Amino acid sequence: MNIPESFLNELKQRTDIEDVISSYVALKRCGSKLVGLCPFHNEKTPSFTVFTKTQSFYCFGCGTGGDAIGFIKRIENLDFIDAVKFLAKRTGLQIPEKELNDSFGSEYETLYEINKETADYYHSYMLSKEGKKGLDYLISRGLEKSTINKFNLGFAPDCRNSLLFHLLDKGFWIGDMVAAGVVRNTQKGYCDTFRKRLTIPITDLSGKVIAFGGRTIDGTMPKYINTAETRIYKKSGGLFALNIAKNSCKKSIILCEGYMDAISMHQAGFDNAVAGCGTALSNEQVELLKRYSREVILVYDCDDAGQKALNRAIGKFRAANINIKVPFLYGGKDPEEIIRNLGKEQFAQMLYTAPDDIGYAISHLYQKYNLSTIQGKLDLISEAAVILSAASSIERNLYISQISGNLDVDRESLKAQFDLLL
Ligand SMILES: [Zn+2]
Repeated sequence: MNIPESFLNELKQRTDIEDVISSYVALKRCGSKLVGLCPFHNEKTPSFTVFTKTQSFYCFGCGTGGDAIGFIKRIENLDFIDAVKFLAKRTGLQIPEKELNDSFGSEYETLYEINKETADYYHSYMLSKEGKKGLDYLISRGLEKSTINKFNLGFAPDCRNSLLFHLLDKGFWIGDMVAAGVVRNTQKGYCDTFRKRLTIPITDLSGKVIAFGGRTIDGTMPKYINTAETRIYKKSGGLFALNIAKNSCKKSIILCEGYMDAISMHQAGFDNAVAGCGTALSNEQVELLKRYSREVILVYDCDDAGQKALNRAIGKFRAANINIKVPFLYGGKDPEEIIRNLGKEQFAQMLYTAPDDIGYAISHLYQKYNLSTIQGKLDLISEAAVILSAASSIERNLYISQISGNLDVDRESLKAQFDLLL
């Protein structure tokens, strides 16, 4: 991608770094500099510094630094060209169109275009008479037309090459379709990747389609096929619906396991919900969440697999120093069902008043052990001691009081027992 030097210079001149950064970070003047809490690492005293004179920033804590474009790249998770576009839009500058279509950027541009065309094609197919089965399924799962349109959900025909021919018609090359992951090159020839499946477009932070989740509606296994990694899509790097959730002003982000869960939550007004893309939670995703929110609410499935994934996620968030809440879900097997059965107010109550991970783990113990027996109480105490070893001393003391009340055990002897087990 060649952005003319003259354009970049003009953009830099018209961009005030203080103005750009202060829409993300609360800055305080300190002599000729401005300081604030670094958005790229966790800190309690400000080491993030903005130098208005040189129009640059530097964090003395984590060493991140650069100019306004560098800041936008990092905080919005954009590549250079998209960061330039982002700032240009903000300042009302027009990038010369011709330059944008030139050079190596266009290779990626083609993949984005193919994905967009694919999403639209499957969406219109679903709204046609032939694709009604897909639409009926989504409606049976409680989705409204407006939600289906908002997420551009679609349905793929049960046909080997319908997308391939459609894209050829639009002037795309087969090689690029394969590179985008929407067509596969098999031993029997080229074949559309998503056949007879619902298509859920996955977008990057700027809203461009970069991949798809494909879900069966007739019990065919596997239930989900996702786009394999491509030049514009890295599975472990993204979060479904984060492009919408990042604009929500709520202080927390809701993380759930499935696309459908996230979509149902958005429909009910929880526009701060995101989902992983069919893989275990990665460190990159944890970092991404940390960038957009101080708190993550974990909505995982109640089955064994879900609980195992939940425990792994809790470990990762704790290590990354992110506050989490773990709600006890009831009233249905997934968010859509819970919202349908109990209403969104009660679901919101469940989420926003949820305990943190330690509270969640301790509460589980009360169900796990038979507390009418002495052995049950003793077992609970030893397991609670293990859980509380990860807690701060103030947290530990609060839980000791709570447990002593609940088990009707003298607080001091319980505390002594805990200190022994630690
Ligand atoms: Zn920093």
